[in-house]
Amino acid sequence: MKRARWLLPALIVVGACNAAAPALYRYYLPAMLGPIAVEVQMITTTDARARRAVQAGSAEVSQINNLLSRYIETSEVSRINRKSGSETHASAQTVKVVRRAIEIARLTDGAFDITVGPAVDLWRDARRAGELPDPEELEQARGRVGYQQITVGDNSVTLEKPGMSIDLGGIAKGYIVDRVARALRDTGIEDALVDAGGDGYAMGLNAQAEPWRIGLEHPRGEGRSPLDIVLRLSDRAYATSGDYRQYTEIDGERYSHIIDPRTGRPAREAASATVVAPDCMTADALATALLVMPPEAGVELVDSLEDIECLVITIRDDELHKIASSGFYDLTDDARDRPADTDDHPPE
Ligand code: ADP
Ligand code: MG
Repeated sequence: MKRARWLLPALIVVGACNAAAPALYRYYLPAMLGPIAVEVQMITTTDARARRAVQAGSAEVSQINNLLSRYIETSEVSRINRKSGSETHASAQTVKVVRRAIEIARLTDGAFDITVGPAVDLWRDARRAGELPDPEELEQARGRVGYQQITVGDNSVTLEKPGMSIDLGGIAKGYIVDRVARALRDTGIEDALVDAGGDGYAMGLNAQAEPWRIGLEHPRGEGRSPLDIVLRLSDRAYATSGDYRQYTEIDGERYSHIIDPRTGRPAREAASATVVAPDCMTADALATALLVMPPEAGVELVDSLEDIECLVITIRDDELHKIASSGFYDLTDDARDRPADTDDHPPE
């Protein structure tokens, strides 16, 4: 049945005698997300259609990034942070992401918390200086963390405590991926893979008329070695958070860029967490939360959520341990991916 979907338009095209067969087009969007490039693969019939989709996707990336990045001085998030303590006007997009961030914070009991910014900053400075943050400053930063102190109106965001700030780094990328996918769809593209540095959305089917294949990275592999687990996704989003792409080593200890909001210190439970969800905003935020939560509790939470699956990898004594939600391996290439010797949930 899946093949018929391609045969049919191809036959019509031949009959009409004026267009090319569907082909795979691959681009990096001109607009970047800081250092991250957004890659788009899509199936379409002409260069002009592909270019139109790329332009629409790229416009979305720069527009949303200019609202949500706290590293852009003129962004809405920067303005909200500068005006902490008072109500600040915010666009529908910013309101939507902040609302979802608060929902995920509640769901994860505060493991995901966008007010963690002050602690993130201290650890970023520590990474640059190569020495641990001052404990007193860290304690002060921790006092400014707490998503309960955010009030969201229909077109405003208020950070109730002066000195608080929000950091959407753990959720904005996912939202941008969702927006790019929608922009492609709006130009008539049905089959595409949008990927922003390992977080992405698989629309429709690949060039073989099968679900898109997404290989997962090994959290301790050299360069970008694969983990031998391949997701097969159609109309699904995925995201991975890890302590391996961005981390600091100080005195031989590894410090992740993801902070446990309750301690103000880098998360150390898991080496990586991959989440598959209906939208990438949810996948992105949950993957960040799963790096903070005790792995079993995180997987248990995911098991209680509909249409969401995850794989959490921990490292003990240099060995990888994989803990998966009950339906995770149904989304991978092959049942052989299912490891026999781990503390995985038994197949149902
Ligand atoms: P990456 O950006 O490397 O893909 P994530 O999606 O996990 O990784 O996002 C990490 C970013 O999220 C950090 O750089 C920081 O800006 C922010 N962050 C760190 N800890 C938390 C947390 N506990 N809750 C929400 N956001 C966080
Ligand atoms: Mg994330």
